[in-house]
Amino acid sequence: MACGRDPETIRLVAVSKTIQANMVREAIEAGVALLGENYVQEARAKFNALAAYPVSWHFIGHLQSNKAKYAVRLFDLIHSVDTLKLARELNKQAKKIDKIQDILIQVNMGEEPSKSGVYVKDVHNLIKDISLLENLSVKGLMTMPPFFNDPEKVRPYFSALRDLRDQIKKEAFPDIAMDELSMGMTGDFEAAIEEGATLVRIGTAIFGKRE
Ligand SMILES: *Cc1c(COP(=O)(O)O)cnc(C)c1O
Repeated sequence: MACGRDPETIRLVAVSKTIQANMVREAIEAGVALLGENYVQEARAKFNALAAYPVSWHFIGHLQSNKAKYAVRLFDLIHSVDTLKLARELNKQAKKIDKIQDILIQVNMGEEPSKSGVYVKDVHNLIKDISLLENLSVKGLMTMPPFFNDPEKVRPYFSALRDLRDQIKKEAFPDIAMDELSMGMTGDFEAAIEEGATLVRIGTAIFGKRE
């Protein structure tokens, strides 16, 4: 790989929001192993239609606490935890089904009010609080950076997320892993990979333009 990284350390999440189950099936048959969904209801229908396939479902959208019950049943990794309230609800629901739920903390790197995600200054406290919740396991960080047409303008947000991850890793909170960096989409995944992404979330480049 041009940037000198081992391809095994980068996983592709095929973002299948709004995409019909039969198209998702084709992607799975072509080798996709991880699917990313943004809406719980929509994901449930596809999950049932494609239950025969050994794929892993990730939740990448904004999650409301009242959907936590379904989320813990469907998803192997939830990328978008950004409040203690949501974390507590996920912990409670995971406990009920005797599951340790893997999560990422979504960080709002651009401090954009229109976007989900915890601000950088609050990440440490959120992770410290979540580390006390027995049925959640924090695996790393996720971000949706501000939108630019030029990936070079997005790159500083990716490198800042990596620095934040490394800093939190050094603090060694109990039971917090901090290995994953979920960043990069169709328009900017190359820059994200160069800056250390371990999970790239790609929709358009796989399924074409969404309606
Ligand atoms: C839709 C979406 C993506 C995929 O975006 P593309 O530009 O189609 O690759 C990635 N991450 C999140 C959180 C999304 O909502």
